Amino acid sequence: KRFQESITMAYHTFHGVETRIVRIFNTYGPRMRLNDGRVIPAFIGQALRGEDLTIFGDGLQTRSFCYITDCVEGIYRLMRSDFHEPLNLGQDRMVSINELADMVAKIAGYEIDKKHIDGPQGVRGRNSDNTQLREVLGWEPQVSLEEGLAVTYKWIEEQVIAANSNQASAAADV
Ligand code: UDP
Repeated sequence: KRFQESITMAYHTFHGVETRIVRIFNTYGPRMRLNDGRVIPAFIGQALRGEDLTIFGDGLQTRSFCYITDCVEGIYRLMRSDFHEPLNLGQDRMVSINELADMVAKIAGYEIDKKHIDGPQGVRGRNSDNTQLREVLGWEPQVSLEEGLAVTYKWIEEQVIAANSNQASAAADV
Protein backbone atom coordinates (compact mmCIF):
# COMPACT_ATOMS: atom_id res chain seq x y z
CA LYS A 1 0.00 0.00 0.00
CA ARG A 2 2.83 2.38 0.87
CA PHE A 3 4.53 1.63 -2.44
CA GLN A 4 1.32 2.36 -4.34
CA GLU A 5 1.05 5.68 -2.55
CA SER A 6 4.66 6.58 -3.41
CA ILE A 7 4.35 5.67 -7.06
CA THR A 8 1.04 7.53 -7.35
CA MET A 9 2.60 10.62 -5.80
CA ALA A 10 5.57 10.31 -8.18
CA TYR A 11 3.25 10.27 -11.21
CA HIS A 12 1.51 13.35 -9.88
CA THR A 13 4.72 15.24 -9.10
CA PHE A 14 6.80 14.32 -12.14
CA HIS A 15 4.17 13.76 -14.81
CA GLY A 16 1.35 16.03 -13.65
CA VAL A 17 -1.17 13.19 -13.48
CA GLU A 18 -4.36 14.10 -11.59
CA THR A 19 -4.22 11.66 -8.70
CA ARG A 20 -5.92 11.03 -5.34
CA ILE A 21 -4.77 8.76 -2.54
CA VAL A 22 -7.38 7.42 -0.16
CA ARG A 23 -6.63 5.25 2.86
CA ILE A 24 -9.68 3.10 3.37
CA PHE A 25 -10.24 1.48 6.76
CA ASN A 26 -12.27 -1.67 7.52
CA THR A 27 -15.38 -1.20 5.39
CA TYR A 28 -18.60 -3.20 5.67
CA GLY A 29 -22.21 -3.21 4.54
CA PRO A 30 -24.74 -4.89 2.24
CA ARG A 31 -23.26 -6.78 -0.72
CA MET A 32 -20.02 -7.54 1.08
CA ARG A 33 -18.69 -11.04 0.60
CA LEU A 34 -20.00 -13.38 3.27
CA ASN A 35 -17.25 -15.99 3.43
CA ASP A 36 -13.97 -14.17 3.12
CA GLY A 37 -13.21 -14.40 6.83
CA ARG A 38 -13.64 -10.76 7.73
CA VAL A 39 -14.95 -10.23 11.18
CA ILE A 40 -18.36 -8.62 10.59
CA PRO A 41 -19.80 -11.20 8.15
CA ALA A 42 -18.15 -13.95 10.24
CA PHE A 43 -19.89 -12.82 13.45
CA ILE A 44 -23.25 -12.17 11.77
CA GLY A 45 -23.16 -15.58 10.05
CA GLN A 46 -22.41 -17.27 13.36
CA ALA A 47 -25.18 -15.34 15.13
CA LEU A 48 -27.68 -16.36 12.45
CA ARG A 49 -26.69 -20.02 12.82
CA GLY A 50 -26.97 -19.80 16.61
CA GLU A 51 -23.26 -20.49 17.04
CA ASP A 52 -20.76 -18.94 19.46
CA LEU A 53 -18.91 -15.92 18.11
CA THR A 54 -15.30 -16.94 17.48
CA ILE A 55 -12.90 -14.29 18.70
CA PHE A 56 -9.27 -14.63 17.74
CA GLY A 57 -7.15 -14.11 20.85
CA ASP A 58 -8.26 -11.96 23.79
CA GLY A 59 -10.56 -9.77 21.67
CA LEU A 60 -8.93 -6.60 22.96
CA GLN A 61 -7.50 -5.78 19.55
CA THR A 62 -9.25 -2.73 18.13
CA ARG A 63 -10.51 -1.57 14.73
CA SER A 64 -12.70 1.20 13.36
CA PHE A 65 -15.42 0.16 10.92
CA CYS A 66 -16.72 2.35 8.13
CA TYR A 67 -20.12 1.80 6.51
CA ILE A 68 -20.05 1.42 2.72
CA THR A 69 -22.14 4.50 1.85
CA ASP A 70 -19.76 6.68 3.86
CA CYS A 71 -16.79 5.13 2.07
CA VAL A 72 -18.33 5.82 -1.36
CA GLU A 73 -19.38 9.34 -0.40
CA GLY A 74 -15.89 10.10 0.92
CA ILE A 75 -14.22 8.87 -2.27
CA TYR A 76 -16.65 10.91 -4.38
CA ARG A 77 -15.95 14.06 -2.37
CA LEU A 78 -12.20 13.49 -2.52
CA MET A 79 -12.34 13.02 -6.32
CA ARG A 80 -14.10 16.36 -6.62
CA SER A 81 -11.50 18.11 -4.46
CA ASP A 82 -8.01 19.03 -5.61
CA PHE A 83 -6.24 17.30 -2.72
CA HIS A 84 -3.34 15.08 -3.77
CA GLU A 85 -1.89 13.96 -0.45
CA PRO A 86 -2.92 10.70 1.20
CA LEU A 87 -6.20 11.05 3.10
CA ASN A 88 -7.63 8.74 5.77
CA LEU A 89 -11.22 7.70 5.10
CA GLY A 90 -12.75 5.79 7.96
CA GLN A 91 -14.75 6.11 11.14
CA ASP A 92 -12.70 7.48 14.02
CA ARG A 93 -14.54 5.39 16.60
CA MET A 94 -12.36 2.56 17.80
CA VAL A 95 -14.03 -0.59 19.14
CA SER A 96 -12.51 -3.79 20.46
CA ILE A 97 -13.46 -7.07 18.80
CA ASN A 98 -15.11 -8.07 22.11
CA GLU A 99 -17.30 -4.95 21.92
CA LEU A 100 -18.12 -5.69 18.29
CA ALA A 101 -19.21 -9.22 19.25
CA ASP A 102 -21.49 -7.78 21.97
CA MET A 103 -23.04 -5.38 19.46
CA VAL A 104 -23.78 -8.21 17.00
CA ALA A 105 -25.31 -10.29 19.84
CA LYS A 106 -27.48 -7.34 20.84
CA ILE A 107 -28.82 -6.95 17.30
CA ALA A 108 -29.47 -10.70 17.09
CA GLY A 109 -31.54 -10.27 20.24
CA TYR A 110 -30.55 -13.41 22.06
CA GLU A 111 -27.82 -14.66 24.34
CA ILE A 112 -24.71 -15.57 22.35
CA ASP A 113 -21.46 -16.75 23.90
CA LYS A 114 -18.06 -15.52 22.86
CA LYS A 115 -15.48 -18.22 22.23
CA HIS A 116 -11.83 -17.13 22.33
CA ILE A 117 -9.74 -19.23 19.98
CA ASP A 118 -6.37 -19.04 18.25
CA GLY A 119 -6.44 -17.16 14.97
CA PRO A 120 -4.78 -14.35 13.05
CA GLN A 121 -5.16 -11.15 15.07
CA GLY A 122 -3.49 -8.73 12.68
CA VAL A 123 -2.38 -5.40 14.08
CA ARG A 124 -3.22 -4.76 17.74
CA GLY A 125 -5.06 -1.53 17.05
CA ARG A 126 -6.08 0.55 14.06
CA ASN A 127 -8.13 3.72 13.94
CA SER A 128 -8.68 6.55 11.47
CA ASP A 129 -7.42 9.99 12.52
CA ASN A 130 -9.99 12.17 10.72
CA THR A 131 -8.50 15.59 11.47
CA GLN A 132 -7.38 16.08 7.88
CA LEU A 133 -10.54 14.53 6.42
CA ARG A 134 -12.63 17.15 8.23
CA GLU A 135 -10.29 19.95 7.13
CA VAL A 136 -10.07 18.91 3.48
CA LEU A 137 -13.61 17.73 2.79
CA GLY A 138 -15.53 19.53 5.56
CA TRP A 139 -17.21 16.18 6.07
CA GLU A 140 -16.72 12.86 7.82
CA PRO A 141 -18.50 9.48 7.92
CA GLN A 142 -22.04 9.77 9.21
CA VAL A 143 -23.38 6.26 9.77
CA SER A 144 -22.93 4.92 13.30
CA LEU A 145 -21.68 1.39 13.81
CA GLU A 146 -25.00 0.48 15.47
CA GLU A 147 -27.02 1.66 12.44
CA GLY A 148 -24.69 0.14 9.87
CA LEU A 149 -24.47 -3.20 11.66
CA ALA A 150 -28.26 -3.44 11.94
CA VAL A 151 -28.70 -2.89 8.18
CA THR A 152 -25.88 -5.32 7.37
CA TYR A 153 -27.29 -7.95 9.73
CA LYS A 154 -30.68 -7.74 8.02
CA TRP A 155 -29.13 -7.97 4.56
CA ILE A 156 -27.05 -11.02 5.47
CA GLU A 157 -30.12 -12.63 7.05
CA GLU A 158 -32.01 -12.13 3.76
CA GLN A 159 -29.13 -13.72 1.81
CA VAL A 160 -29.13 -16.74 4.10
CA ILE A 161 -32.92 -17.15 3.85
CA ALA A 162 -32.78 -16.85 0.03
CA ALA A 163 -29.91 -19.38 -0.18
CA ASN A 164 -31.80 -21.82 2.04
CA SER A 165 -35.01 -21.56 0.04
CA ASN A 166 -33.08 -22.03 -3.25
CA GLN A 167 -31.50 -25.16 -1.80
CA ALA A 168 -34.91 -26.40 -0.64
CA SER A 169 -36.50 -25.88 -4.08
CA ALA A 170 -33.48 -27.48 -5.84
CA ALA A 171 -33.87 -30.50 -3.55
CA ALA A 172 -37.62 -30.64 -4.34
CA ASP A 173 -36.82 -30.66 -8.08
CA VAL A 174 -34.68 -33.80 -7.79
N1 UDP B 1 -11.46 -11.63 13.97
C1 UDP B 1 -12.01 -12.45 14.95
N2 UDP B 1 -12.83 -13.48 14.55
C2 UDP B 1 -13.13 -13.73 13.24
C3 UDP B 1 -12.56 -12.90 12.24
C4 UDP B 1 -11.72 -11.85 12.65
O1 UDP B 1 -11.77 -12.25 16.16
O2 UDP B 1 -13.88 -14.68 12.95
C5 UDP B 1 -10.59 -10.50 14.41
C6 UDP B 1 -9.21 -10.55 13.77
O3 UDP B 1 -8.33 -11.29 14.60
C7 UDP B 1 -8.82 -9.09 13.71
C8 UDP B 1 -10.17 -8.34 13.64
O4 UDP B 1 -11.17 -9.30 13.98
O5 UDP B 1 -8.13 -8.71 14.90
C9 UDP B 1 -10.47 -7.78 12.25
O6 UDP B 1 -10.26 -8.81 11.32
P1 UDP B 1 -10.56 -8.62 9.76
O7 UDP B 1 -9.96 -9.81 9.07
O8 UDP B 1 -12.01 -8.37 9.54
O9 UDP B 1 -9.79 -7.27 9.36
P2 UDP B 1 -8.24 -6.81 9.51
O10 UDP B 1 -7.53 -7.71 10.49
O11 UDP B 1 -7.69 -6.89 8.12
O12 UDP B 1 -8.32 -5.41 10.02
